[in-house]
Amino acid sequence: MNYITRFAPSPTGFLHVGNLRTAIFNYVMAKKSGGQFILRLDDTDKVRSTEQFSDQIKRDLEWLGFEWDRCEKQSNRISLYEYAAQSLKESGYLYECFETPEELEFKRRKQLSMGRPPVYDRSSINLSTKEKLRLRSEKHGYWRFKLDQSRVEWQDGILGSVSVDSGSVSDPVLIRADGQFLYTLASVVDDIEFRINYVIRGSDHVTNTATQIQLLTKLGSSLPFFAHHSLLIGVKGEPLSKRMNNLSLKELRTIGLEPEAIFIFMAGLGSQNPPVPEITIEEVFKYFNLSKFGTTPTKFDSNILSLFSQKCLMRLSFDEIEKELNDLKIPIDIQLDFWDMAKENISKRSDLHDLWCLCVDGIEPSILAEDRDFIFLCKQLMPGYPRDKNSWIDWTNAIKSESNRSGKSLFLPLRKALTGQSSGPDMKKLFPLMQKIRL
Ligand code: GLU
Repeated sequence: MNYITRFAPSPTGFLHVGNLRTAIFNYVMAKKSGGQFILRLDDTDKVRSTEQFSDQIKRDLEWLGFEWDRCEKQSNRISLYEYAAQSLKESGYLYECFETPEELEFKRRKQLSMGRPPVYDRSSINLSTKEKLRLRSEKHGYWRFKLDQSRVEWQDGILGSVSVDSGSVSDPVLIRADGQFLYTLASVVDDIEFRINYVIRGSDHVTNTATQIQLLTKLGSSLPFFAHHSLLIGVKGEPLSKRMNNLSLKELRTIGLEPEAIFIFMAGLGSQNPPVPEITIEEVFKYFNLSKFGTTPTKFDSNILSLFSQKCLMRLSFDEIEKELNDLKIPIDIQLDFWDMAKENISKRSDLHDLWCLCVDGIEPSILAEDRDFIFLCKQLMPGYPRDKNSWIDWTNAIKSESNRSGKSLFLPLRKALTGQSSGPDMKKLFPLMQKIRL
């Protein structure tokens, strides 16, 4: 079957790793089935949605390699929601309400104190035409969808068989008093019109799905398949919500993580076949299988993501990194040697800059008192620039025979004096590239 899926973020903030998982699931399912992937911007909330967030969402997705077959904004589709609302009003499934938030809260508390579930009591359904006219002269009404108070069941692509008791859910508001169409109605109208046949989203939408199944049916539509993936939690089981700003795609891009690594990692996280950095994007598409994903919350560890990024970076061919090397103005004749030295010692592309600075400017060494004489001797024996691939071995052999040091007591203070670090690149590869050494 060719799946038509959609990813429907609200442009009220930046995309984060949690949203990305939903996007990837929908994208991979559509593309691997030869179907279509639609990007839908849920921007009916005029106050919180912005053009900047919409643009950033598209930029982030493009950076990660997404290509959509269609992009739509809900704000351009209001007339379709009006049309659907009108038909629901006419068939009596949409009813007008006038209770204030305070009145609803009062009812809710009363129900709870009586040990009853706080489900809206539908008192507005029974308002007479006269009462409605009076209330309308005082304030704008809002509109609720009259749910069938029955169980809604479906076979979920991840959760298996799901059953939700709609009798324990309040009739949802579909149109606010200010006329704004809310997500539930807008989403269903669009899903019908776009012929979406697989809806994949987070498990926080399970109750919405039950409501939307009723709404789809009332609007005369067939039902798509549904799948609800688990939500992400931190490594200690904590909710990720507070850290989502640091886990926005914009931020991950700023800190220099590889888009391919992010895609591969997020596509496999929570699956019975956990992600491995060696896998390619093509293999992700080939092996992706919704039924392999677990239903319990999925741990997200940003350190593992960084490690993935590092491994993906190491795997890049010279051609794939050449642009960065040119941007750093690394002379063409040493670019290959530089990349060969650098690739195993960077976790992000921006680390190339630091390594190149080390090659060009060296560092001001801080030498322990007990190593001063030793480093002075090293300086006397140091071969001049240009150096070649044997220079390091020749130099350290000379130092060995002229001093009483060998092994760690020779290499560690020397590495620290040259690089400022106690570990790092293979010195055989780095030393010939170091144009300035400030011993
Ligand atoms: N805009 C909704 C959200 O971001 C879309 C949910 C859905 O996929 O239907 O939660």
